[in-house]
Amino acid sequence: MKKDNLLDEFYSLVQVDDSDGHYAQDIRDNNYFGMPLEAVVKAERRLRSQTERCIAYFSMEYGLATSCYNKLSSQLALNPSNKIPENAVFSNFRVADYFFALHQNNILDLPIYSGGLGVLAGDTVKTMADYKLPVAAIGILWNSGYFRQKFWFKYGQAPEKMRWDPYTYPGLIPLKNIIKISLKPEDVYLRLWKYYVYSYQHDAVVPLILLDSNIEPNSQRAKNLTDQLYRSDNVFLKLLQRVMLGFGGVSALNDLGYNIDTYHLNEGHAVFAFIAKSRGMDKDKLEALKSKFVYTCHTPVEAGHDRFFFDDLNKVLNKEDTDIIERFGKERSGLANLTLLSMNISAAINAVSHNHQKVMHIQFPSYKDQIQYVTNGVHPGTWMSQEFQDLFGKFPETFVDFKANPMILSRAAELKRNADFRLQLWQAHQSNKNNLCKLLEKWKLDKNLFTICWARRVAAYKRPSLILHDISRLVRIAQQVGPLQIILAGKAHPNDNLGFTYINEMLDKVDKLNEDYDKLKIIVLENYDISLGKLLSSSVDVWLNNPLPPFEASGTSGMKAIMNAVLQMSTVDGWVAEATDKKIGAFFGYKNNEGSVGDESDLHMNADSEELYCALERMVGLYYKTNQNGKLNSASEWIDMMIECISTAAKFNTYRMVDQYKQQIWKIA
Ligand SMILES: *Cc1c(COP(=O)(O)O)cnc(C)c1O
Repeated sequence: MKKDNLLDEFYSLVQVDDSDGHYAQDIRDNNYFGMPLEAVVKAERRLRSQTERCIAYFSMEYGLATSCYNKLSSQLALNPSNKIPENAVFSNFRVADYFFALHQNNILDLPIYSGGLGVLAGDTVKTMADYKLPVAAIGILWNSGYFRQKFWFKYGQAPEKMRWDPYTYPGLIPLKNIIKISLKPEDVYLRLWKYYVYSYQHDAVVPLILLDSNIEPNSQRAKNLTDQLYRSDNVFLKLLQRVMLGFGGVSALNDLGYNIDTYHLNEGHAVFAFIAKSRGMDKDKLEALKSKFVYTCHTPVEAGHDRFFFDDLNKVLNKEDTDIIERFGKERSGLANLTLLSMNISAAINAVSHNHQKVMHIQFPSYKDQIQYVTNGVHPGTWMSQEFQDLFGKFPETFVDFKANPMILSRAAELKRNADFRLQLWQAHQSNKNNLCKLLEKWKLDKNLFTICWARRVAAYKRPSLILHDISRLVRIAQQVGPLQIILAGKAHPNDNLGFTYINEMLDKVDKLNEDYDKLKIIVLENYDISLGKLLSSSVDVWLNNPLPPFEASGTSGMKAIMNAVLQMSTVDGWVAEATDKKIGAFFGYKNNEGSVGDESDLHMNADSEELYCALERMVGLYYKTNQNGKLNSASEWIDMMIECISTAAKFNTYRMVDQYKQQIWKIA
């Protein structure tokens, strides 16, 4: 196709709001922010075709990081607010904390996610693009992101409102399309934005449509609806954020002329999409509509299931809409339950790991036959470090075409006796670890010392402070078995008081440490994000995962780690329960009774920290037999486990996951 025609067709399909020619440098000829424009035009055409079975994927959050994979580039000057800020460090080497900060100088992650759910949605969409699936993803343009975490010395986390500039974020473009959502108190107008998620290998894209209420003529109240992700301090904000996603998403798809066959609700947040589609339908049509919806549940935690009073719904929605909610989503207590609603209106329901399925079967016995499971995964192109991509590339006979087919990683086991592979594997790991040491140079991180990391959302069931539970025990391990470097990171939801308490506790314990810093380093990093997540999960020796079973529906950060041969120390929960036959580290801790949904309030801190320390002693001992002051014992069992990590990654990735969604859930295989 001729270049000019391509550009014309793009502008006819995508109504870019660019009255001042802002984007003329970035969208020209056959170029879209440094990527091929043709892929965009193809995707836009397919979504409007009458013959394809297109999928709309709805999610409240998307974890997409330009610094890790979505390498769109812009000629526009990057607004400084779109750079990762200088982050503080809190450690037991307080002098360094006082004088230095972390300078990453990367572009900010697209700030529309809070944690694992968003990262999974981002990884899913990237994989859909790799698979060239006709998909439109729907989300919200959070004008103030989630929040920026500031450490307030040792007193804990001070959440700061974050500012960023969508107009200069590479690849993100505002459209002329404005849609109207009619609600009882007032109409809300939403501007549509687009961000194209590219597959670099397969030259295909999935458009992500983002909804934004921060426009005229909305009232200030309405403008605030898309300000901050997961505002929960006010029931109407919470409700209306969900209404925006569902109603807004359906209107947006109509306005863009997309022809959607399957609506995928990534969490019940988006279930109002069904309500919007159901208007004016009789019984038969409603049944037919149900065959078009599928629902993925992501949490067994009580707070993860949204409930609303009908009185509150009635203040916002019209009667026809609340009638449908009453019919499909009213629980025995009389509340509207979005999980129940989602299950009742969906043709396929899935949990996100085998363990999670078992819990859901207990939580929702009458849906037992319908609840399947598709274990989560991580996107290899995003999370496999360059060092490891290069390493696999050097053994092409074993890892044939591993980029297109990560399942081939299972063959790593064949190289167990290959001395050259064992050595190069270690070197690749040390090279990754060296990157972390460089970033933390001022904190004197040493690449020949045992390094373990806990980094994730700070929520009670994840037990962020378990490894610090008995500091004197930790000190003894460091003195008697070998030096320890411990890295901790994570944000607590601003309204989660318990989460705050954990961060306080962590900082306070680190502050009080008097142990020789060369023996025990504990470093707490501010503002955990995707680029830190990638660096940490690929570079430490051991990834620590200690949720209280059975509350981790899946968890994904450990999957990022095994893809980079980082060993696991983990309780048996979420995805890990499907890998206990693999020698990928140490499993420990409380096991819940399979017939019950568990007790979130009993965290088993004493018993489980004891088990954690025993596992730690074994791992540290083995580590120092493997790495003796930089001298490698390449016959060590440690290397066997690193290899087993890689072969296990053959299963826990989004290619396997999307294959299963195609077969079991979307039924397009
Ligand atoms: C991977 C990731 C998560 C999810 O980690 P879990 O192990 O599922 O808790 C959260 N936040 C960031 C920034 C991540 O990269």
